[in-house]
Order: sequence, then C-alpha cells, then structure tokens
Amino acid sequence: MAKIHNLGFPRIGANRELKFALEKYWKGESTQGELTELAAGLRQKHWQHQSALDLTPVGDFSFYDQVLDTSFTLGNIPARVEGLAGDELDNYFRVARGRSAHDSGCSCVHAGEMTKWFDTNYHYIVPEFTADTRFELNPQRLLAQLEEAQAQGVAAKPILVGPVTYLWLGKEKDSSNKLDLLEQLLPVYAQLLSLLAEKGVEWVQIDEPILVTELSAEWQQALEKAYQTLNQGKVKLLLATYFGELKENLSLAVNLQVQGLHVDAVRGRKEVDAVIAALPADKTLSLGVINGRNIWKTDLNAVLNWLEPIARDLGERLWIAPSCSLLHVPVDLNSEQKLDAEIKSWLAFALQKLDELSVLSRALNEGRESVAQVLADNQAAIDSRRQSTRVNNPDVQAAVAAITPALGQRQHPYAERIARQTAHLNLPAFPTTTIGSFPQTAEIRQARLKFKKGELDQDTYIRQMQAEIAHAVREQEALELDVLVHGEAERNDMVEYFGEQLDGYAFSQFGWVQSYGSRCVKPPILFGDISRPNAMTVAWTQYAQSLTDKPMKGMLTGPVTILNWSFVRDDQPRAVSCYQLALAIREEVLDLEKAGVKVIQIDEAALREGLPLRQSEWQEYLNWAVESFRITANGVADETQIHTHMCYSEFNDIIASIADMDADVITIETSRSDMELLDAFDHFRYPNEIGPGVYDIHSPNIPTEAQMVKLIQLAAQRIPAERLWVNPDCGLKTRQWAEVLPALKNMVAAAKTLRANA
Ligand code: GLN
Ligand code: ZN
Repeated sequence: MAKIHNLGFPRIGANRELKFALEKYWKGESTQGELTELAAGLRQKHWQHQSALDLTPVGDFSFYDQVLDTSFTLGNIPARVEGLAGDELDNYFRVARGRSAHDSGCSCVHAGEMTKWFDTNYHYIVPEFTADTRFELNPQRLLAQLEEAQAQGVAAKPILVGPVTYLWLGKEKDSSNKLDLLEQLLPVYAQLLSLLAEKGVEWVQIDEPILVTELSAEWQQALEKAYQTLNQGKVKLLLATYFGELKENLSLAVNLQVQGLHVDAVRGRKEVDAVIAALPADKTLSLGVINGRNIWKTDLNAVLNWLEPIARDLGERLWIAPSCSLLHVPVDLNSEQKLDAEIKSWLAFALQKLDELSVLSRALNEGRESVAQVLADNQAAIDSRRQSTRVNNPDVQAAVAAITPALGQRQHPYAERIARQTAHLNLPAFPTTTIGSFPQTAEIRQARLKFKKGELDQDTYIRQMQAEIAHAVREQEALELDVLVHGEAERNDMVEYFGEQLDGYAFSQFGWVQSYGSRCVKPPILFGDISRPNAMTVAWTQYAQSLTDKPMKGMLTGPVTILNWSFVRDDQPRAVSCYQLALAIREEVLDLEKAGVKVIQIDEAALREGLPLRQSEWQEYLNWAVESFRITANGVADETQIHTHMCYSEFNDIIASIADMDADVITIETSRSDMELLDAFDHFRYPNEIGPGVYDIHSPNIPTEAQMVKLIQLAAQRIPAERLWVNPDCGLKTRQWAEVLPALKNMVAAAKTLRANA
C-alpha cells in the first residue's frame, strides 16, 4: 500500500487570517495570547484538511519563516537582540522585521537579511554565522506543535530544515567558514531527533533541497557526514529534496544514511528510474508526483499509467506526495466565485492537490475502478484544457514560429543611436528622471476599488486618473526633471495591470501565496496563448505628453518579469510563453512610438529572479529571456530611446546578457551599495548609459543634495560621466508626496551641481 503524505501546508490561511492577525499584533492592537490562539486554530484547521494523509506535516507552521524558526530552534540568534525587553516571540519578530510589537523608536535593531528560497518567490531570513556561533537546542516551539497535533489525533511527521541546507542558506558575518560549524551543529540535531523519538514520532522529514543544486566536494561530504552522525536508529529519517533533479548528486542522495528519500517527480520525472535503480533495497522512496509549484490539475490518468508499474515493483516502499511543500500555492480553489467555470475546471490549489493525492492512492491501492468517476472527470478537464480554443490561438503560435533574430535587432549600434537621441531629446549632462510610479494615494486606491466594483463610472474614473497624471506632470515640471513619467496612477500592480488587458490571462480572487512574513502575492494565471486585443497604455501616455514639452517616458513591464511573476503554463516551455508576451508588448512599444512617445521604459524587475538553480542552466534561460526583451524593445527607430529598469544591483555574473539587451539606458538599484556594485559595468562589458539609483526609496529618509552628489561622483569613478543618469532606485508608489518632493528637489539640485562642476 503506497502511503500518502505532504511536505508542508500553506500557513497564511485561506483568507490570509495569519497575515491580518500578525499585522494587528505588530500594531499593538491585539495581545500575544490572541495571536497564538489564532495560530493554533489555523494549525488545527490545516491538519483537518490533511486528515486523509497517512503522515501529516507538523512544524511547517510559522509566524514568519521556517528558516528563522530553525535558527531559533538551534539557538542561533543574532547577538544584537540579546538582552532586549520581552520574550522569545518579541525577539523573533525583531530578527524578522527589525522590531517587535511594542518597540518604540530606539529599541529597533536591524532586521535579518531576506533572500529568495531557492527558485520560488518565497523569501527567508538568512541565518547569520560567525566563528563564535554556538548552537543550543531550543525545541519548545516544535515540541509544543507536536503535542498539539498528537492531542488532535494527527499522524504527525515533524519537518526540519536539514543541517547542511541550514548552513548553506546562511551567511558568515566574518571571515569564518560556515561549514566549520557542522561539527557542533550535528549534536543539536541529534538531541532534537532523540526528543522527537521520545514523543513517539516514527518518521521525521528532514529537508535538504540543496541536493538539487551544484555542490562542491566539501558540501557533498558535509551531507555524508551529517547523516552518518544523525542515523542513530531512534527515528526514521525521510530526506526530502525538491525543486529539481538530483543529477550529479543522485548517487550521493540515494546513499545517504537515512531510511527514506523524497524526490521531486515532477521536475525530476525523467530521473526517477535511475533513482529507483540506485536506491538501496531497504529504503523508502517518496515520489512527489503532484506539482507543488503550479495551480494546474494533475493529469491523473497519465500519472497512473506511469506510476502503476513503479508501485507494483516497490510495494510498501513507495510513498507519494506533492513535489514540494504546498506553501507555494494558494489554499482553496473553491473560494473562487468569479473565475470562469471552464478555466476553473482546469485548476487545483492546495486542497484540491491533496484530493488528487488521495485519488491516486486509492487507484493504486484499490484499483482505478474504485475512483472511476473521478478519473473520468479529471480526464474530461484535461482534454477540455488541451483542446480549448481559449488556450490555443493559431495566429499567436504562427507568430512565435516566425520569430527571427532580425526582430530583436535595432537599426544601428548604440553609439550611432545615442547621438541621434541626444540631439533630438535635447538632454543636459546628468539627465534626471524617475522610475515610473508616483505615490499611490488613498484617493487613488479608493477610486480604483470603486471603479472595479462598478460604483464609479468609467468617465469619472478616467477623469480622476487624468487629474492625478496632470498633478504628477505639474510637480515634475516644477522640479525641473528632464524626462517625465505619467506616474502610473491607473495601475494596481505592474504585472496585473498588463495581464488584465492581455488575452490568455485569468485572475483569482483569493489565490494568495506567501512571499515573506505577512506579505502575500496573488500571481495572475497565464493559461493560454497571449495576445493583445487593444493598446494598453497609449491613451494615458498620450494624455500625459499633451501636458508638457518635456519628453514623457512610456512605461511598460517587460515579458520576462510578467512571466516570472505569474503562474505559468505547464503545457509548453516557459520560453514560448515569454516569446508570446514579448510579441504582445512589442506591439504596445510600436504603438507608443507611433503616438509620438520618444522614450519608452520596459521594466525587467524580475529578470534575475528567473535564473535556474543550477548555474549550468543559466545561459539557456538568459538566451531566451534576453531575446524576449530584444524582441519587445528593439523594433523602434534609432531616435526612440529605450530604457530598462531592474530592482537590484548584482550584475557581475550576468553583465554580458544585460549588455546584450541593448537598452539605451538602464536604471538600477544602487544607493545602498555605495556604487561598488557598479564595478560590473566597466566600459568594455557595458557600453550603454546607466542610471545608478541615488535615492533609496525603501526608506522614508530624505537624501540630501550632498549625499546624492557624492554617490554620483563615486559612480563617475567607475562609469564615464557622460553616460550617467540621475534617478531614484525604484518607483515611488509606496512613498508619500511629502517625502518625494523634497527628495526629488535635492536630486535635481545634485544633478545641477554636477553639471556646473563638469
Ligand atoms: N515602473 C515601476 C514603478 O516605478 C517599476 C517598479 C519595479 O521595478 N518594481 O513602480
Ligand atoms: Zn525597481
């Protein structure tokens, strides 16, 4: 009998209950007791949802982040929060967010750094290590959740971040080597496993997803050593890997001293035979057969065709599960009231994925007849999606097939283009601009909400947005900025805004996924071939341009970013979806140009995020990502200036690809790095113009003229001054006008000072 289990459940709640409870607590509007009570209620509900499983995850719930939980369990707490008022939860939130619920101004500490969890959009708090790091077991959180689960009759399988992955995720704060800490880390894990055994736990899931990345020999040896040490026969260990194939780590993974191995049988499907062949005969194999990274229904019949012979071979040794934790998908499709019924019939969120798992297990254990109707319904949904004319648009497919390199090629090289652009845009040295958005005020949000609800008619809405645009233009003229923007008042979100206007996209109401802490995102669902029925931004931009003689920058989101922030199709390569997006946005670029827009910015905030986990696969991704950008941007005349914007500054390892995009101007985030990161952009590697951000828009602080002059001077040590622009790090939508106006005033003054000194 194949057992079924789950690797983790979304903890934010079907209605984002945890988010709202946390934010209330942080504002001091609720007590810790209220918060912990809500959390216990959520856990109970989530375990009930998983009651059909043979083994249920425990310890996957978190107030903020499972990696930060692990740091606290291991007693690895940054020294800066020691000795502060309050209890452990206060300190926990201090590390997570820089302050706890009741801290006023001065007791703030700096928050732990946050970074992406592998190739997901989830962000974890980076563990901090020094040569002096000591670990000390603090099992209370986990044991309490375990007792709670056991009291509720849950077949509990505690979940731990494995010791080697834990070290790998962290960062040395001095010149020490974090791998040296393994020796003293392992006894703490051993102690924890003993405690879990004493509590009657049979299986513990221990996550080592680093096994799907490229590992040096030291890290491979660390894994071997870790599981030699932890294999003490008290509990059985299920070593979980996910997010990809094991590849060169396969033999290492199957031979680690554990009792079971979980592999991602969605992304790693073609490797499963090799895993089975190599896995020692006494080990359990858990196959992650349901995709935990997307929102599509599983083709259950196809999975069974593949899985049945495996199940016959492995018998009791086979378990099945989602490919990874369900943290990365929304909770319940049944909450959706507005989704088109046909599209809805193609989808599965976390609860539906668990149902699929139950169906698979019944089919394997009792025969397909026992679930004949469900399988037939599933087949009908799969067929309807495959054949739907809403998914398949032959014109779009033909256009993608007809793509040639010429489509991504500007008329002339940068050096010739820039001369023409400078002449006809009439820009000074150190030209000033902003990244696109101006403050999204309460009035703007309200108007949009009312318009969506039908409480505001279209004409009134348009007039109100035009008034916002006019205001933004007036302010920019008064500030004497050189290249203006319309301010993006009409946009809710830089991806959703375009998705809503493209054919091939659907939107959920409750499809929230945790991004970090209480922050959630609701990725749009790219379900079909993409086309652009109408111009999306031209009218707003034209209106804005009509109000000023200064150049007005058209503002678009690029194809790679739209792709990387969406749930995407599993029935065609990501590259194909990206090319389709590129062709659609290219039409918008050309329409803007036709409407007289002379500068067009195409944001690619998420280009770097899409990099595959293995560096050996980077180039392939970068090839189609860069080509998609080129197709989008490069159909314009030499005189039209293309800008792109990226919300980060680490370019060293991808600078050749960034240069290949051939945007005339790139604006990036650099104000906090003292421009050191500009070293990547030396003249040979990056010949075009650059706007290194001089104003940190994430902070309410107002930068002074002198600070910004200094930053540009630092930049000018690395980049010839004639190629530098002066601009903030990113869009200003989260700021207040009262902060933005003085900051931009100082910024323009800084540019003028630089010009005068040139
Ligand atoms: N144009 C967008 C804005 O200004 C860019 C945002 C981003 O890169 N994240 O808001
Ligand atoms: Zn940005």
